[in-house]
Amino acid sequence: ARSLVWLRNDLRLADNPALAAALDAGAVVLVFVLDPAAQWGGAALWWLHRSLAALGQDCAARGAKLVLRRGDSVAIIPELAASIGATTVHAGRAHEPWLRQVDRDVAAALKARGIGFERHRSALMFGAEQIRTKSDGVYGVYTPFSRACFEAFAPRAAIAAPKRIPGIADVASDALEDWHLLPRAPDWAGGLRDTWQPGEAGAQERLAHFLRDGLDDYDRRRNLPGETGTSMLSPHLHWGEIAIDAVWRAADAVVTKRPDGKHTFLKELIWREFAAYLLWHNETLDEVPMKDQFAAMPWRDAPDDLRAWQRGVTGIPIVDAGMRQLWRTGWMHNRVRMITASFLVKHLLIPWQAGEAWFWDCLVDADAASNAASWQWVAGCGADAAPYFRIFNPVLQGEKFDPDGAYVRRFVPELARLPDRALHAPWDAPEAVLRSAGVTLGKTYPRPVIDLKAGRERALAAFKTIGKSA
Ligand code: FAD
Repeated sequence: ARSLVWLRNDLRLADNPALAAALDAGAVVLVFVLDPAAQWGGAALWWLHRSLAALGQDCAARGAKLVLRRGDSVAIIPELAASIGATTVHAGRAHEPWLRQVDRDVAAALKARGIGFERHRSALMFGAEQIRTKSDGVYGVYTPFSRACFEAFAPRAAIAAPKRIPGIADVASDALEDWHLLPRAPDWAGGLRDTWQPGEAGAQERLAHFLRDGLDDYDRRRNLPGETGTSMLSPHLHWGEIAIDAVWRAADAVVTKRPDGKHTFLKELIWREFAAYLLWHNETLDEVPMKDQFAAMPWRDAPDDLRAWQRGVTGIPIVDAGMRQLWRTGWMHNRVRMITASFLVKHLLIPWQAGEAWFWDCLVDADAASNAASWQWVAGCGADAAPYFRIFNPVLQGEKFDPDGAYVRRFVPELARLPDRALHAPWDAPEAVLRSAGVTLGKTYPRPVIDLKAGRERALAAFKTIGKSA
C-alpha cells in the first residue's frame, strides 16, 4: 500500500511515529505544505527554510524526495494523496487552533475520497483530552497538572530513522528557494546563522551537549542569562526536529550527581505540555485574557514606548539586552523573557498582545501555545498566573541574575566599561563614573523611558480599576 506522510511540527525522520506507521505499510511520499493560514513570523520562516533544507537532504540520502507544496492544505493534501494512489495519510496530531481546523476539513475531504487519515501522538506527551482531574475536569493549575504528567508519562521506545525510504517516483515539488523564506535586503539573519543549526542533526547535537554539560546544574544555572545554563532546545522542539519522547528519555537516563537538575528540567518540559494543553482548551489564548476582568484594563496606546522596547533602547539595561538578544539571535533567555515582558505590560502599561505579536515575529521558537500562555502568565491574566501586582524591578532582577554583568555587556556594548555596581542602573551612577566609562546618558545610551517607581505606581493604579476575578 502507498501512504502520504504529511509533516507539520515534526520535521524529523527518527522517533517519528507517523513515518514509521507509513513505512510499515509500504511506499511513502513525504510532504510539507507551506500554508498561509499558519501566519508564521519572520524568524520562524528563516528557521523553516533551513529545517526543510536539512530534512530534504536527509530524505535524499535515503532515496526519497521531500515534496514541498505551497497553498491551502485542505485542497493540496487530498489531491496529492489521491494522485499517488495513497490509501492513508499519516500525520502528527496538532494542537494549534488553525491546524486543528485544517485537520477537520482535510479529514472530511479524505473521507469523501475513501482515503484514511491517521494521526499519531508526536509533538506532545499526551493528547490534551487525556489529562483530566480526578473529578474529570480540566486542570487550570500547573503543579497538579505536572504531577499527573509525571505519573502517567511513559516515553515511547526509540524509533530509529529509517535507512531507506521506499518512495514513489515523479511527484512534483516546489523548489524551496522559490518560496523566498529567507530575508534578502536587509539581511537580518546573520546572528541567527551564527547561533543555530536547524534540523535533526543540530537538535541532536544540542541535546548531547546539554546532557553532558548542563543537566547536572540546570536548577542552579537556568536563571543566569550570562551563562549557557539551559538546553536551547526550544526551536528544535517547536519544529519537532527532535521528539519530546527522545528528550525525556535521554535526560531521564542520565545518571546525575544530584537529582535536582534533572527533575527541574523535566518539569520545564511539562510547562511546554501545559501551555499546549491550555491552548487546546482555550483556542483564543493569544488574544483573549483567561481572567476576563483584564479585558477592562486601561492599557496605554503608546507607539513610541513600544518601539523603544522592540528596539532595545528603553534605557533599562537588562531590558535592552534581552530585546537585542531577541533581535540578533531569534531567541531570548527565559528569565529575561519574563523581565522584558513584565516591563512592557506593567511599567509601560502596554497590552500584552502587542508584546506577544513582537515575540511571534522575532522568535525562532515562536509557539502559539507557549508564547500566548507565557504572556498571559506574565501579564497576570493567565491560568495560574503571577499576580499582576507583583511587579519585577528590572534593576534588582539584573543585579540578582546578571551579577557580573556578562549578559548586559554582551548585548549592550556601549555600557560595557561601566563598573558592575553602575551597570544595571546607570542613571543613578555619579557623573564621573559614567564619564570614565565613556557613557553619556541621552547620547551614547538612552535615559530610561520611564521612571521605574512612577511606572510601578501607574500599573498598580490601573490594576485597581479592574476589580476582582469573576
Ligand atoms: P530549557 O530551560 O532548556 O527548557 C527545556 C524546554 O522546556 C524548552 O526548550 C521548552 O520547550 C520547554 N520550556 C521551558 N520553559 C518553558 C515555559 N516557561 N513555557 C513553556 N515551555 C517551556 N517558549 C517557546 O518554546 N516558544 C515561545 O514562543 C515562548 N514564548 C515565551 C514568551 C514569554 C513572555 C516567556 C516568559 C516565555 C516564553 N517561552 C516560550 C518559554 C521559555 O522562555 C522558553 O521555552 C525557553 O526560554 C527556551 O529555552 P531553552 O530551550 O534553553 O529552555
